[in-house]
Amino acid sequence: MKKSDGNIGNTNNNIIANPQHDPVALSGPLRGEKICVIGAGFVGTVTASGFARFGHQVVCVDNDRKLLSMLSSGRIPFYERDLEELVKSEMSGGRLIFESDLEKSVEGRKAVFLTVGTPSSNGGRADLTALQEIISLLSKKMRSGQILVIKSTVPVGTATMIKIYFSDNGNRIDIDVINNPEFLREGNAVNDFFNPHRIVIGGNSSGAIETISHIYKIGMTRPVPIFTTNNETAEMIKYASNVFLATKIGFVNELARLCDSVGVNTLEVARAIGADPRIGHRFLEPGPGWGGSCLPKDLQEFIGLAESLGVSLFIPRAVNEANLHQFKHIFLKVKNLVGNINGARIGVLGLTFKANTSDLRESPAIPILLKLIENGADVVAYDPAADGEVKSLLPDIIRVHDPYKTAEGADCMLILTEWSDFQLLDWKRIGEIMKSKNIVDARNILTPELLKRYGFNYAGVG
Ligand code: NAD
Repeated sequence: MKKSDGNIGNTNNNIIANPQHDPVALSGPLRGEKICVIGAGFVGTVTASGFARFGHQVVCVDNDRKLLSMLSSGRIPFYERDLEELVKSEMSGGRLIFESDLEKSVEGRKAVFLTVGTPSSNGGRADLTALQEIISLLSKKMRSGQILVIKSTVPVGTATMIKIYFSDNGNRIDIDVINNPEFLREGNAVNDFFNPHRIVIGGNSSGAIETISHIYKIGMTRPVPIFTTNNETAEMIKYASNVFLATKIGFVNELARLCDSVGVNTLEVARAIGADPRIGHRFLEPGPGWGGSCLPKDLQEFIGLAESLGVSLFIPRAVNEANLHQFKHIFLKVKNLVGNINGARIGVLGLTFKANTSDLRESPAIPILLKLIENGADVVAYDPAADGEVKSLLPDIIRVHDPYKTAEGADCMLILTEWSDFQLLDWKRIGEIMKSKNIVDARNILTPELLKRYGFNYAGVG
Protein backbone atom coordinates (compact mmCIF):
# COMPACT_ATOMS: atom_id res chain seq x y z
CA MET A 1 0.00 0.00 0.00
CA LYS A 2 1.35 3.39 -0.93
CA LYS A 3 1.09 5.92 1.88
CA SER A 4 -0.36 9.31 1.08
CA ASP A 5 1.73 12.20 2.37
CA GLY A 6 -1.13 13.68 4.38
CA ASN A 7 -1.07 16.92 2.45
CA ILE A 8 -4.34 18.05 1.05
CA GLY A 9 -4.04 17.64 -2.66
CA ASN A 10 -6.63 19.02 -5.02
CA THR A 11 -5.85 16.09 -7.25
CA ASN A 12 -8.66 16.19 -9.71
CA ASN A 13 -10.97 18.57 -11.39
CA ASN A 14 -13.89 16.29 -11.61
CA ILE A 15 -17.42 16.38 -12.78
CA ILE A 16 -20.57 15.55 -10.92
CA ALA A 17 -23.79 14.33 -12.44
CA ASN A 18 -26.87 16.43 -12.61
CA PRO A 19 -29.85 14.58 -11.12
CA GLN A 20 -31.96 15.61 -14.08
CA HIS A 21 -29.77 13.55 -16.39
CA ASP A 22 -31.18 10.38 -17.85
CA PRO A 23 -30.04 7.67 -15.43
CA VAL A 24 -29.96 5.07 -18.17
CA ALA A 25 -27.53 7.15 -20.17
CA LEU A 26 -25.29 7.55 -17.12
CA SER A 27 -25.41 4.02 -15.87
CA GLY A 28 -24.79 0.52 -17.08
CA PRO A 29 -23.51 -2.68 -15.56
CA LEU A 30 -20.09 -2.26 -17.15
CA ARG A 31 -19.47 1.16 -15.60
CA GLY A 32 -20.73 0.76 -12.06
CA GLU A 33 -19.27 -0.78 -8.93
CA LYS A 34 -21.09 -2.98 -6.45
CA ILE A 35 -21.60 -0.85 -3.36
CA CYS A 36 -23.11 -1.42 0.07
CA VAL A 37 -24.34 1.51 2.17
CA ILE A 38 -24.99 0.72 5.85
CA GLY A 39 -27.51 3.04 7.49
CA ALA A 40 -30.60 4.21 5.62
CA GLY A 41 -31.08 7.55 7.39
CA PHE A 42 -30.76 11.06 5.89
CA VAL A 43 -27.20 10.54 4.66
CA GLY A 44 -27.49 6.85 3.77
CA THR A 45 -30.63 7.15 1.65
CA VAL A 46 -29.28 10.12 -0.29
CA THR A 47 -25.87 8.48 -0.76
CA ALA A 48 -27.30 5.11 -1.82
CA SER A 49 -29.78 6.55 -4.31
CA GLY A 50 -27.22 9.07 -5.60
CA PHE A 51 -24.64 6.36 -6.28
CA ALA A 52 -27.34 4.28 -7.95
CA ARG A 53 -28.04 7.24 -10.25
CA PHE A 54 -24.33 7.27 -11.11
CA GLY A 55 -24.81 3.73 -12.40
CA HIS A 56 -23.59 1.67 -9.45
CA GLN A 57 -25.37 -1.37 -8.09
CA VAL A 58 -26.29 -0.35 -4.56
CA VAL A 59 -27.68 -2.24 -1.61
CA CYS A 60 -28.65 -0.05 1.35
CA VAL A 61 -28.84 -1.81 4.72
CA ASP A 62 -30.54 -0.80 7.95
CA ASN A 63 -31.58 -2.63 11.11
CA ASP A 64 -34.83 -0.68 11.42
CA ARG A 65 -37.37 -2.94 9.71
CA LYS A 66 -40.18 -0.39 9.79
CA LEU A 67 -37.95 2.10 8.00
CA LEU A 68 -36.90 -0.52 5.46
CA SER A 69 -40.45 -1.52 4.68
CA MET A 70 -41.30 2.14 3.97
CA LEU A 71 -38.21 2.67 1.82
CA SER A 72 -38.77 -0.58 -0.07
CA SER A 73 -42.21 0.65 -1.04
CA GLY A 74 -40.68 3.91 -2.29
CA ARG A 75 -41.76 6.07 0.65
CA ILE A 76 -39.30 8.31 2.52
CA PRO A 77 -39.98 8.58 6.27
CA PHE A 78 -38.68 12.16 6.41
CA TYR A 79 -39.09 15.22 4.24
CA GLU A 80 -36.25 15.79 1.78
CA ARG A 81 -36.84 17.52 -1.53
CA ASP A 82 -36.49 15.30 -4.65
CA LEU A 83 -35.43 12.25 -2.64
CA GLU A 84 -38.58 10.18 -3.07
CA GLU A 85 -38.48 10.54 -6.86
CA LEU A 86 -34.79 9.63 -6.91
CA VAL A 87 -35.25 6.56 -4.70
CA LYS A 88 -38.28 5.35 -6.67
CA SER A 89 -36.56 5.80 -9.99
CA GLU A 90 -33.40 3.97 -8.91
CA MET A 91 -35.38 1.12 -7.35
CA SER A 92 -37.44 0.66 -10.48
CA GLY A 93 -34.25 0.84 -12.56
CA GLY A 94 -32.95 -2.12 -10.52
CA ARG A 95 -29.84 -0.30 -9.28
CA LEU A 96 -31.01 0.24 -5.69
CA ILE A 97 -32.39 -2.18 -3.14
CA PHE A 98 -32.99 -1.94 0.61
CA GLU A 99 -32.01 -4.86 2.84
CA SER A 100 -31.93 -5.85 6.49
CA ASP A 101 -29.36 -8.64 6.20
CA LEU A 102 -26.02 -6.92 6.68
CA GLU A 103 -23.84 -9.98 6.28
CA LYS A 104 -25.44 -10.98 2.98
CA SER A 105 -25.36 -7.40 1.70
CA VAL A 106 -21.64 -6.96 2.22
CA GLU A 107 -20.67 -10.02 0.21
CA GLY A 108 -19.00 -9.25 -3.12
CA ARG A 109 -19.27 -5.45 -2.68
CA LYS A 110 -16.23 -3.44 -3.74
CA ALA A 111 -16.93 -0.66 -1.24
CA VAL A 112 -18.92 -0.64 1.99
CA PHE A 113 -20.00 2.86 3.07
CA LEU A 114 -20.92 3.46 6.72
CA THR A 115 -23.57 6.14 7.25
CA VAL A 116 -24.88 5.27 10.70
CA GLY A 117 -25.50 7.94 13.31
CA THR A 118 -22.76 9.20 15.63
CA PRO A 119 -24.78 11.24 18.16
CA SER A 120 -23.42 12.93 21.27
CA SER A 121 -22.99 10.70 24.29
CA ASN A 122 -23.89 12.05 27.74
CA GLY A 123 -20.35 13.32 28.21
CA GLY A 124 -20.53 15.19 24.88
CA ARG A 125 -18.10 12.97 22.95
CA ALA A 126 -19.33 11.12 19.84
CA ASP A 127 -21.20 7.92 20.66
CA LEU A 128 -19.79 5.25 18.36
CA THR A 129 -21.96 2.37 19.60
CA ALA A 130 -23.74 1.78 16.28
CA LEU A 131 -20.50 2.03 14.36
CA GLN A 132 -18.69 -0.37 16.71
CA GLU A 133 -21.46 -2.99 16.43
CA ILE A 134 -21.18 -2.91 12.68
CA ILE A 135 -17.38 -3.00 12.69
CA SER A 136 -17.50 -6.12 14.85
CA LEU A 137 -19.78 -7.85 12.29
CA LEU A 138 -17.83 -6.58 9.31
CA SER A 139 -14.52 -7.80 10.69
CA LYS A 140 -15.90 -11.33 10.34
CA LYS A 141 -17.45 -10.75 6.95
CA MET A 142 -15.23 -8.47 4.88
CA ARG A 143 -12.34 -9.76 2.78
CA SER A 144 -9.07 -8.18 1.67
CA GLY A 145 -9.63 -6.06 -1.41
CA GLN A 146 -12.94 -4.71 -0.16
CA ILE A 147 -12.83 -1.07 0.97
CA LEU A 148 -14.51 0.21 4.10
CA VAL A 149 -15.59 3.85 3.70
CA ILE A 150 -16.59 5.89 6.73
CA LYS A 151 -19.05 8.55 5.70
CA SER A 152 -20.38 9.06 9.22
CA THR A 153 -18.77 11.94 11.09
CA VAL A 154 -16.23 10.26 13.37
CA PRO A 155 -13.62 11.50 15.85
CA VAL A 156 -10.05 11.92 14.70
CA GLY A 157 -8.32 8.57 15.02
CA THR A 158 -11.38 6.37 14.39
CA ALA A 159 -10.25 4.99 11.03
CA THR A 160 -6.89 3.97 12.49
CA MET A 161 -8.62 2.22 15.40
CA ILE A 162 -10.85 0.36 12.94
CA LYS A 163 -7.84 -0.79 10.92
CA ILE A 164 -6.22 -2.14 14.10
CA TYR A 165 -9.49 -3.83 15.11
CA PHE A 166 -9.72 -5.58 11.74
CA SER A 167 -6.17 -6.86 11.92
CA ASP A 168 -6.69 -8.27 15.46
CA ASN A 169 -10.24 -9.64 15.18
CA GLY A 170 -12.59 -11.58 12.91
CA ASN A 171 -10.86 -12.55 9.67
CA ARG A 172 -7.74 -10.65 10.85
CA ILE A 173 -7.30 -8.81 7.59
CA ASP A 174 -5.41 -5.69 6.63
CA ILE A 175 -8.38 -3.66 5.43
CA ASP A 176 -8.35 -0.40 3.50
CA VAL A 177 -10.31 2.18 5.49
CA ILE A 178 -11.25 5.45 3.81
CA ASN A 179 -12.82 8.55 5.36
CA ASN A 180 -15.22 10.24 3.01
CA PRO A 181 -17.02 12.79 5.22
CA GLU A 182 -20.40 14.04 4.11
CA PHE A 183 -21.20 17.75 3.72
CA LEU A 184 -24.78 17.61 2.44
CA ARG A 185 -27.27 20.04 3.90
CA GLU A 186 -30.65 18.72 4.92
CA GLY A 187 -33.31 20.39 2.81
CA ASN A 188 -30.93 20.51 -0.15
CA ALA A 189 -29.37 17.08 0.23
CA VAL A 190 -30.10 15.62 -3.21
CA ASN A 191 -28.83 18.71 -4.99
CA ASP A 192 -25.76 18.75 -2.72
CA PHE A 193 -24.99 15.12 -3.55
CA PHE A 194 -24.96 15.83 -7.27
CA ASN A 195 -23.37 19.27 -6.99
CA PRO A 196 -20.96 19.15 -4.05
CA HIS A 197 -18.55 21.99 -3.36
CA ARG A 198 -15.84 19.42 -2.72
CA ILE A 199 -15.28 15.75 -2.05
CA VAL A 200 -12.85 14.68 0.67
CA ILE A 201 -11.27 11.24 0.45
CA GLY A 202 -8.86 10.32 3.23
CA GLY A 203 -6.83 7.14 3.52
CA ASN A 204 -3.36 5.67 3.30
CA SER A 205 -3.82 3.45 0.26
CA SER A 206 -3.58 5.21 -3.08
CA GLY A 207 -5.40 2.30 -4.75
CA ALA A 208 -8.38 2.56 -2.38
CA ILE A 209 -8.46 6.35 -2.77
CA GLU A 210 -8.46 5.92 -6.55
CA THR A 211 -11.36 3.43 -6.39
CA ILE A 212 -13.50 5.73 -4.25
CA SER A 213 -12.66 8.69 -6.52
CA HIS A 214 -13.79 6.56 -9.46
CA ILE A 215 -17.10 5.79 -7.73
CA TYR A 216 -17.77 9.54 -7.73
CA LYS A 217 -16.18 10.36 -11.07
CA ILE A 218 -18.34 7.91 -12.96
CA GLY A 219 -21.38 10.21 -12.80
CA MET A 220 -19.65 13.54 -13.18
CA THR A 221 -20.62 16.32 -15.53
CA ARG A 222 -18.85 19.36 -14.10
CA PRO A 223 -15.59 20.12 -12.29
CA VAL A 224 -15.52 19.55 -8.53
CA PRO A 225 -12.36 19.51 -6.41
CA ILE A 226 -11.48 16.22 -4.77
CA PHE A 227 -9.24 16.60 -1.73
CA THR A 228 -7.22 13.51 -0.96
CA THR A 229 -5.68 13.36 2.50
CA ASN A 230 -4.73 10.88 5.17
CA ASN A 231 -7.51 9.53 7.43
CA GLU A 232 -6.97 11.87 10.37
CA THR A 233 -6.97 14.96 8.17
CA ALA A 234 -10.25 13.93 6.53
CA GLU A 235 -11.77 13.32 9.97
CA MET A 236 -10.62 16.75 11.15
CA ILE A 237 -11.86 18.54 8.01
CA LYS A 238 -15.45 17.57 8.82
CA TYR A 239 -15.29 18.82 12.42
CA ALA A 240 -13.39 21.98 11.51
CA SER A 241 -15.99 22.75 8.87
CA ASN A 242 -18.95 22.46 11.24
CA VAL A 243 -17.25 24.28 14.10
CA PHE A 244 -16.39 27.14 11.76
CA LEU A 245 -19.99 27.35 10.49
CA ALA A 246 -21.30 27.45 14.07
CA THR A 247 -18.76 30.18 14.86
CA LYS A 248 -19.85 32.27 11.90
CA ILE A 249 -23.53 32.06 12.87
CA GLY A 250 -22.61 32.71 16.50
CA PHE A 251 -20.72 35.83 15.48
CA VAL A 252 -23.55 37.30 13.43
CA ASN A 253 -26.05 36.59 16.21
CA GLU A 254 -23.87 38.47 18.68
CA LEU A 255 -23.41 41.27 16.15
CA ALA A 256 -27.21 41.41 15.89
CA ARG A 257 -27.58 41.81 19.65
CA LEU A 258 -25.16 44.72 19.60
CA CYS A 259 -26.78 46.28 16.51
CA ASP A 260 -30.21 45.99 18.16
CA SER A 261 -28.92 48.01 21.08
CA VAL A 262 -27.45 50.82 19.01
CA GLY A 263 -30.20 50.96 16.38
CA VAL A 264 -28.09 49.64 13.50
CA ASN A 265 -29.52 47.26 10.88
CA THR A 266 -27.47 44.04 11.08
CA LEU A 267 -28.58 42.88 7.66
CA GLU A 268 -27.04 45.98 6.07
CA VAL A 269 -23.83 45.44 8.04
CA ALA A 270 -23.75 41.75 7.06
CA ARG A 271 -24.29 42.55 3.39
CA ALA A 272 -21.37 44.95 3.37
CA ILE A 273 -18.93 42.86 5.39
CA GLY A 274 -19.90 39.74 3.41
CA ALA A 275 -18.84 41.44 0.18
CA ASP A 276 -15.26 40.93 1.37
CA PRO A 277 -14.31 37.51 -0.03
CA ARG A 278 -12.32 36.81 3.12
CA ILE A 279 -15.65 36.90 5.00
CA GLY A 280 -18.28 35.87 2.44
CA HIS A 281 -22.07 36.28 2.54
CA ARG A 282 -23.18 32.79 3.52
CA PHE A 283 -24.07 32.01 7.13
CA LEU A 284 -24.18 35.70 7.99
CA GLU A 285 -27.91 35.75 8.68
CA PRO A 286 -28.91 36.35 12.29
CA GLY A 287 -31.57 34.07 13.68
CA PRO A 288 -32.74 32.12 16.73
CA GLY A 289 -29.43 30.24 17.09
CA TRP A 290 -27.96 27.23 15.35
CA GLY A 291 -29.11 23.64 15.84
CA GLY A 292 -29.73 20.50 13.83
CA SER A 293 -28.34 17.01 13.83
CA CYS A 294 -24.70 17.98 13.22
CA LEU A 295 -23.44 21.35 14.47
CA PRO A 296 -24.22 20.87 18.19
CA LYS A 297 -22.81 17.34 18.46
CA ASP A 298 -19.77 18.05 16.29
CA LEU A 299 -18.92 21.14 18.34
CA GLN A 300 -19.13 19.05 21.53
CA GLU A 301 -16.85 16.36 20.09
CA PHE A 302 -14.35 19.03 18.97
CA ILE A 303 -14.29 20.50 22.49
CA GLY A 304 -14.06 17.01 24.02
CA LEU A 305 -11.16 16.01 21.78
CA ALA A 306 -9.20 19.15 22.67
CA GLU A 307 -9.85 18.60 26.37
CA SER A 308 -8.79 14.97 26.23
CA LEU A 309 -5.48 16.10 24.74
CA GLY A 310 -4.99 18.98 27.17
CA VAL A 311 -5.28 21.54 24.37
CA SER A 312 -6.92 24.81 25.50
CA LEU A 313 -9.47 26.02 22.97
CA PHE A 314 -11.52 29.09 23.84
CA ILE A 315 -13.61 29.82 20.74
CA PRO A 316 -15.74 26.62 20.54
CA ARG A 317 -16.88 26.94 24.16
CA ALA A 318 -17.74 30.61 23.67
CA VAL A 319 -19.65 29.75 20.50
CA ASN A 320 -21.69 27.20 22.42
CA GLU A 321 -22.45 29.63 25.24
CA ALA A 322 -23.36 32.40 22.79
CA ASN A 323 -25.83 30.06 21.16
CA LEU A 324 -27.52 29.15 24.44
CA HIS A 325 -27.74 32.87 25.11
CA GLN A 326 -29.36 33.44 21.72
CA PHE A 327 -32.24 31.10 22.63
CA LYS A 328 -32.78 33.18 25.78
CA HIS A 329 -32.52 36.37 23.72
CA ILE A 330 -35.44 35.25 21.52
CA PHE A 331 -37.48 34.39 24.61
CA LEU A 332 -36.77 37.90 25.95
CA LYS A 333 -37.86 39.47 22.65
CA VAL A 334 -41.26 37.79 23.09
CA LYS A 335 -41.40 38.85 26.73
CA ASN A 336 -40.57 42.47 25.85
CA LEU A 337 -43.51 42.62 23.45
CA VAL A 338 -46.03 40.69 25.53
CA GLY A 339 -45.15 41.92 29.01
CA ASN A 340 -46.32 39.03 31.13
CA ILE A 341 -45.57 35.61 29.64
CA ASN A 342 -47.64 33.81 32.26
CA GLY A 343 -50.98 33.02 30.61
CA ALA A 344 -49.96 34.60 27.27
CA ARG A 345 -50.90 32.76 24.09
CA ILE A 346 -47.99 32.48 21.65
CA GLY A 347 -48.63 31.45 18.03
CA VAL A 348 -45.55 29.73 16.63
CA LEU A 349 -44.69 29.26 12.97
CA GLY A 350 -41.95 26.69 12.38
CA LEU A 351 -40.49 23.98 14.59
CA THR A 352 -37.80 22.29 12.48
CA PHE A 353 -34.20 23.42 12.83
CA LYS A 354 -34.30 24.87 9.32
CA ALA A 355 -36.70 25.02 6.40
CA ASN A 356 -37.27 22.18 3.91
CA THR A 357 -36.64 19.41 6.39
CA SER A 358 -38.80 17.49 8.85
CA ASP A 359 -35.84 17.15 11.23
CA LEU A 360 -36.30 18.47 14.75
CA ARG A 361 -32.97 17.29 16.14
CA GLU A 362 -31.54 20.07 18.35
CA SER A 363 -33.90 22.61 16.80
CA PRO A 364 -33.67 26.06 18.46
CA ALA A 365 -37.48 25.87 18.68
CA ILE A 366 -37.17 23.28 21.45
CA PRO A 367 -35.32 25.31 24.14
CA ILE A 368 -37.14 28.51 23.19
CA LEU A 369 -40.61 26.96 23.43
CA LEU A 370 -39.75 25.00 26.59
CA LYS A 371 -38.74 28.30 28.22
CA LEU A 372 -41.96 29.97 27.15
CA ILE A 373 -43.98 27.05 28.56
CA GLU A 374 -41.94 26.98 31.75
CA ASN A 375 -42.90 30.64 32.20
CA GLY A 376 -46.60 29.90 31.82
CA ALA A 377 -47.25 30.57 28.11
CA ASP A 378 -49.76 28.62 26.04
CA VAL A 379 -48.00 27.67 22.81
CA VAL A 380 -49.92 26.88 19.63
CA ALA A 381 -47.59 25.81 16.83
CA TYR A 382 -47.68 25.03 13.13
CA ASP A 383 -44.98 23.42 11.01
CA PRO A 384 -45.56 22.05 7.51
CA ALA A 385 -43.21 19.06 7.87
CA ALA A 386 -41.97 18.50 11.44
CA ASP A 387 -41.88 14.79 12.21
CA GLY A 388 -43.62 12.80 14.94
CA GLU A 389 -40.89 13.69 17.43
CA VAL A 390 -42.81 16.91 18.22
CA LYS A 391 -45.00 14.98 20.66
CA SER A 392 -42.10 13.68 22.74
CA LEU A 393 -39.86 16.76 22.50
CA LEU A 394 -42.57 19.36 23.09
CA PRO A 395 -45.40 17.48 24.82
CA ASP A 396 -47.06 20.64 26.16
CA ILE A 397 -47.58 22.56 22.96
CA ILE A 398 -50.76 22.45 20.91
CA ARG A 399 -49.88 21.53 17.33
CA VAL A 400 -52.28 22.73 14.64
CA HIS A 401 -52.30 21.95 10.94
CA ASP A 402 -53.47 25.34 9.69
CA PRO A 403 -51.05 28.28 10.16
CA TYR A 404 -53.96 30.71 10.73
CA LYS A 405 -55.09 28.67 13.76
CA THR A 406 -51.88 29.67 15.57
CA ALA A 407 -53.00 33.31 15.44
CA GLU A 408 -56.45 32.88 16.99
CA GLY A 409 -56.48 34.89 20.21
CA ALA A 410 -52.67 35.09 20.21
CA ASP A 411 -50.77 37.70 22.20
CA CYS A 412 -47.73 37.29 19.98
CA MET A 413 -46.64 35.44 16.84
CA LEU A 414 -43.17 33.91 16.80
CA ILE A 415 -41.47 32.73 13.58
CA LEU A 416 -38.78 30.15 14.31
CA THR A 417 -38.17 28.45 10.93
CA GLU A 418 -37.63 30.20 7.60
CA TRP A 419 -40.26 28.27 5.60
CA SER A 420 -40.93 30.47 2.57
CA ASP A 421 -44.68 29.70 2.83
CA PHE A 422 -44.83 31.94 5.88
CA GLN A 423 -44.03 34.97 3.71
CA LEU A 424 -47.10 34.23 1.61
CA LEU A 425 -49.56 34.16 4.52
CA ASP A 426 -52.21 36.89 4.70
CA TRP A 427 -50.62 38.90 7.52
CA LYS A 428 -53.44 41.43 7.54
CA ARG A 429 -55.86 38.59 8.28
CA ILE A 430 -53.51 37.18 10.92
CA GLY A 431 -53.43 40.55 12.67
CA GLU A 432 -57.23 40.62 12.70
CA ILE A 433 -57.59 37.26 14.45
CA MET A 434 -54.87 37.91 17.05
CA LYS A 435 -55.63 39.36 20.47
CA SER A 436 -52.61 41.70 20.30
CA LYS A 437 -50.64 42.42 17.14
CA ASN A 438 -47.14 41.47 18.32
CA ILE A 439 -44.65 39.52 16.24
CA VAL A 440 -41.13 38.25 16.77
CA ASP A 441 -39.66 37.28 13.39
CA ALA A 442 -36.64 35.30 14.55
CA ARG A 443 -35.67 34.54 10.94
CA ASN A 444 -36.14 38.04 9.48
CA ILE A 445 -38.27 36.62 6.66
CA LEU A 446 -41.09 39.17 6.68
CA THR A 447 -41.11 42.78 5.50
CA PRO A 448 -41.18 44.90 8.68
CA GLU A 449 -42.66 47.95 6.89
CA LEU A 450 -45.65 45.90 5.70
CA LEU A 451 -46.27 44.40 9.12
CA LYS A 452 -46.04 47.84 10.74
CA ARG A 453 -48.56 49.16 8.21
CA TYR A 454 -50.96 46.41 9.40
CA GLY A 455 -50.50 47.68 12.94
CA PHE A 456 -48.04 45.08 14.25
CA ASN A 457 -45.36 45.68 16.85
CA TYR A 458 -42.59 43.97 14.86
CA ALA A 459 -39.32 42.67 16.27
CA GLY A 460 -36.79 40.99 14.00
CA VAL A 461 -33.31 39.84 14.97
CA GLY A 462 -30.79 42.61 14.45
P1 NAD B 1 -29.72 9.00 10.86
O1 NAD B 1 -29.96 8.79 12.31
O2 NAD B 1 -30.75 9.69 10.04
O3 NAD B 1 -29.44 7.59 10.16
C1 NAD B 1 -28.67 6.57 10.71
C2 NAD B 1 -29.27 5.23 10.28
O4 NAD B 1 -28.40 4.19 10.72
C3 NAD B 1 -30.64 4.97 10.91
O5 NAD B 1 -31.58 4.70 9.90
C4 NAD B 1 -30.39 3.74 11.80
O6 NAD B 1 -31.51 2.87 11.87
C5 NAD B 1 -29.21 3.10 11.09
N1 NAD B 1 -28.47 2.16 11.96
C6 NAD B 1 -28.08 2.35 13.23
N2 NAD B 1 -27.46 1.23 13.70
C7 NAD B 1 -27.45 0.35 12.67
C8 NAD B 1 -26.95 -0.98 12.53
N3 NAD B 1 -26.34 -1.60 13.55
N4 NAD B 1 -27.12 -1.60 11.35
C9 NAD B 1 -27.75 -0.98 10.33
N5 NAD B 1 -28.24 0.28 10.41
C10 NAD B 1 -28.09 0.93 11.57
O7 NAD B 1 -28.33 9.75 10.76
P2 NAD B 1 -27.88 10.78 9.61
O8 NAD B 1 -28.45 12.11 9.87
O9 NAD B 1 -28.06 10.14 8.29
O10 NAD B 1 -26.32 10.89 9.94
C11 NAD B 1 -25.43 9.82 9.70
C12 NAD B 1 -24.01 10.30 9.86
O11 NAD B 1 -23.71 11.29 8.87
C13 NAD B 1 -23.70 10.95 11.21
O12 NAD B 1 -22.40 10.65 11.60
C14 NAD B 1 -23.83 12.43 10.93
O13 NAD B 1 -23.06 13.21 11.80
C15 NAD B 1 -23.29 12.51 9.51
N6 NAD B 1 -23.82 13.63 8.73
C16 NAD B 1 -25.14 13.94 8.78
C17 NAD B 1 -25.62 15.00 8.01
C18 NAD B 1 -27.08 15.40 8.07
O14 NAD B 1 -27.40 16.48 7.57
N7 NAD B 1 -27.98 14.62 8.62
C19 NAD B 1 -24.76 15.72 7.19
C20 NAD B 1 -23.42 15.36 7.14
C21 NAD B 1 -22.96 14.30 7.93
